[in-house]
Amino acid sequence: MHVNDSWCALAFGSNLGDRHALVESALNALAEIDGLTNLESAPFYETEPLDCPEGSPTFLNTVVQTRYNGDVFALLDQTQAIEIQLGRQRKGTRNEARVIDIDLLLIDDVTLEAERLTLPHPRMHERLFVLRPLADLQPELILPNGKPIRKVIQELELNTSPT
Ligand code: ADP
Ligand code: MG
Repeated sequence: MHVNDSWCALAFGSNLGDRHALVESALNALAEIDGLTNLESAPFYETEPLDCPEGSPTFLNTVVQTRYNGDVFALLDQTQAIEIQLGRQRKGTRNEARVIDIDLLLIDDVTLEAERLTLPHPRMHERLFVLRPLADLQPELILPNGKPIRKVIQELELNTSPT
């Protein structure tokens, strides 16, 4: 599926190895992708593991917004290639520690349910570690569920005990 100079948001996370260097390397590699322009990164957040195996290390998370002109599956191919280049290995344990994870959150108002790619990202509404950096870039964003991002963050914060 081709998109034409569409606004995209991508999430980055690392909880293994030199997390800062890994996220920086992933951002630099992303900037090299054909058809991808106007890359802008949110600040980095240190976050506690959520739904991860016990004893998982803390994460470094951020979100990037960019423009993309090209095929959405080609974009996923390239973000997955970056994960592998940076040493990602999949052992199959759910939410196991990883050197880098790159998720596609939103590509304009594209909705897609393919085996390899679901857009919007189905779990983004529940994840403060995604919503906070996304709101830094787009404070007025209305999420695909119709709610303002700021309101969703407030609601999640009320349900989360401070750590
Ligand atoms: P997670 O991101 O949940 O920790 P993985 O990074 O291992 O898990 O991704 C698992 C699969 O999710 C990938 O093989 C990818 O094809 C698929 N996937 C579906 N939708 C998306 C999306 N929006 N962004 C990234 N990957 C996605
Ligand atoms: Mg992923």
